[in-house]
Amino acid sequence: MRDTRGTTRVVAILGDPVEHSRSPAMHNAAFEALGLDYVYVALRVRPGDLGRAVAGARALGFAGWNVTVPYKERIIPLLDRVSATARAIGAVNTVSLVGHQLIGDNTDAEGFRRAIAKLAFRPRGKSAVLLGAGGSARAVAYALSQAGVGRLTILNRTRARALALARQMRAIGRSEVIVGSLGSARAAAPVREADLVVNCTSLGLDGRTIPPIPIAETPAHCLFYDLVYGPERTPLVRLAEQLGRRAEDGRTMLLEQAGLAFHLWTGRRAPLGTMERALFPSGALPA
Ligand code: NDP
Repeated sequence: MRDTRGTTRVVAILGDPVEHSRSPAMHNAAFEALGLDYVYVALRVRPGDLGRAVAGARALGFAGWNVTVPYKERIIPLLDRVSATARAIGAVNTVSLVGHQLIGDNTDAEGFRRAIAKLAFRPRGKSAVLLGAGGSARAVAYALSQAGVGRLTILNRTRARALALARQMRAIGRSEVIVGSLGSARAAAPVREADLVVNCTSLGLDGRTIPPIPIAETPAHCLFYDLVYGPERTPLVRLAEQLGRRAEDGRTMLLEQAGLAFHLWTGRRAPLGTMERALFPSGALPA
């Protein structure tokens, strides 16, 4: 339990649900490690209360906060300014109080870019398959489009959502964008030519479900990046590795986006090693 004083700056995560968030553990460990007088708390905001919650956090002088499901889009009109990246993605995951202004940002896209860069994957000219078309898929699609990916295939259960994301990506980038229904036979063709497959659905959170794509038919060099994460390897990562593919879960992206938010709030470089150890204290993956 951190000591708090009259001078302590408050940072939070606003969402619903937030009970299972690992962000308080990560950020509080980082504040502790750097001796910063900050505390991070998880605050559940019930439907209909977002406006009052934002006004309250502003009035109370919070240094900033993370935004999670289901408020990443809905918070935008409540802020004073939104970065160009967050505007293009259409979602804010980090808010900072600068003077009296609330500034919205999106660190998921840059977090993803850094995560695949650490795996030495360079998107330029490559063929990427995105599973999902929700908030995280928008950030990943933006990052890949900005990095010059050659072809982006968006496969989603709800086709209309994939079409909307494709329109958005065609408007801001030069990549070829293809849309398909997740699980359909026709969606298998781009998977067979994929250099990168990114799971941006929640499939796998239950520890069992694998997204319905023909993983065995991907090229041998195909990299799998699963945004889902947990103390154990995710089902997709396990199967892809069994089939000899390189695969990683979403913890690096989680850490990188958190590190970027930490920097926005404190001006200090985040101690990512400390944050990683705090993420799943007893759940280190075997090397
Ligand atoms: P959203 O709710 O915005 O989107 C969920 C996506 O999952 C949609 O594309 C949805 O499809 C799809 N989906 C959900 N259930 C099913 C199902 N049964 N079958 C097929 N598709 C399904 O969530 P987010 O994009 O914010 O998050 C998605 C995942 O990414 C979560 O597991 C989250 O924890 C993780 N995440 C990880 C991050 C990291 O840093 N590693 C950052 C952000 C998110 P449909 O449109 O048809 O409903």
